Amino acid sequence: MTEPTGPTGPTGPHEVDVPADRPREAPPGVDPVEAEAQAGTGVADAFGRLWTPERMAYIKGENKPPGGSHAAEDCPFCTIPGMGDEEGLVVARGAVSYAVLNLYPYNSGHLMVCPYRHVSDYTDLDRDETAEVADLTQRAITALRRASGAQGFNIGMNLGSVAGAGIAAHLHQHVVPRWGGDTNFMPVVGRTKVLPQLLAQTRDLVAEAWPGG
Ligand SMILES: [Zn+2]
Repeated sequence: MTEPTGPTGPTGPHEVDVPADRPREAPPGVDPVEAEAQAGTGVADAFGRLWTPERMAYIKGENKPPGGSHAAEDCPFCTIPGMGDEEGLVVARGAVSYAVLNLYPYNSGHLMVCPYRHVSDYTDLDRDETAEVADLTQRAITALRRASGAQGFNIGMNLGSVAGAGIAAHLHQHVVPRWGGDTNFMPVVGRTKVLPQLLAQTRDLVAEAWPGG
């Protein structure tokens, strides 16, 4: 395994919805006990390995809106669409929403589907946004199956910080691929940083597998 190379990676402020005091919480719908029981029996997949030290950087507060700001100008999900696809780890862009890799993934290929509009609640989406968020979610599932052979998925939104949303001000739907015996809940050891090449390669794989039409 390559040594961590320091904070040279994409600085796109993505997130994962885990409170700082609960760094190993399972994604929505996942039994943490079951997940722990499966840890350590990892199987190979197209992404090569599952290793998420970058979560520690998020837990330490990197790339979160300053002071818990809810303003659009401080919002990473409003900033990312203005970046290039590779810089922002954008996988696909729709008319009113987009899909982006999570910089602090639960699992390799963890991405999020967000409306471009800075809205916080699912009921704030208009019909076009509702339909396209659903459509991009379906395409994400297809792309992740093609790119990585994902065997299952956790899909969902956390509405409000009390529900676990790390950036509650801007709605986002998580799409987390799962494999039998995946290792995303293995303990993280030491001070580690994101391996930018892994995320860039993952973005390329998913973007290439993204279904058109
Ligand atoms: Zn926003």
